[in-house]
Amino acid sequence: MDFRKSFLFSLLMLGLSAEALASETLYTHAFSPHALFVTGSGWTPELIRNEFKRVQEIYNQCQIRVDLQEIHEVTGSEERLSLLGQSDLEIVEELNIPNRPLVGFAGLIGVSYSHGDEFSPLSLQKALTNTSWLGWEIETQEYKKDRDPSYSPVAHELAHVLCNCGHVASGERNLLSGHAHDVNAVITPQQCETFRHSPLVRELK
Ligand SMILES: [Zn+2]
Repeated sequence: MDFRKSFLFSLLMLGLSAEALASETLYTHAFSPHALFVTGSGWTPELIRNEFKRVQEIYNQCQIRVDLQEIHEVTGSEERLSLLGQSDLEIVEELNIPNRPLVGFAGLIGVSYSHGDEFSPLSLQKALTNTSWLGWEIETQEYKKDRDPSYSPVAHELAHVLCNCGHVASGERNLLSGHAHDVNAVITPQQCETFRHSPLVRELK
């Protein structure tokens, strides 16, 4: 092999190994969330895509691929920035996106929350079922300083929706724990199994 050929050969091998690395996680399942953000809340499509990168890293534990679909923008207003009253319901009705899960990013809403099918007492409105809502506060140091750096509140809210369950108070730190000091990125094998059986998750063949 002359120099030129061997150079090309090396490039080819580099290309192959990069591809091999990218497919290191063998996904067996997938789900396809849509996202929305309120104008003026601080959220941008780039920040949301970053949040979902972290979500993917966490769901790699279950070989579940997170196929983020569209990121929709919603006109902001004082009410919507803080999701006062029924703003979340108004937003989903206005956007009319039938796909679930739907993850909404708003301004300061005090806490992040999800509407499940059965687990959430808030889920009185069918349109809100399988939606998760996150406030800008999750980006702040104030919020992050009490929590494990591996933790993702977006992954946590999606977990509520995927398992259709509330908090897991097993005493062990995990993604679905209900306390700031107990949450981290760990998904138990049993939780993975539950997620895979969610009607929102499909098996890859
Ligand atoms: Zn929670």
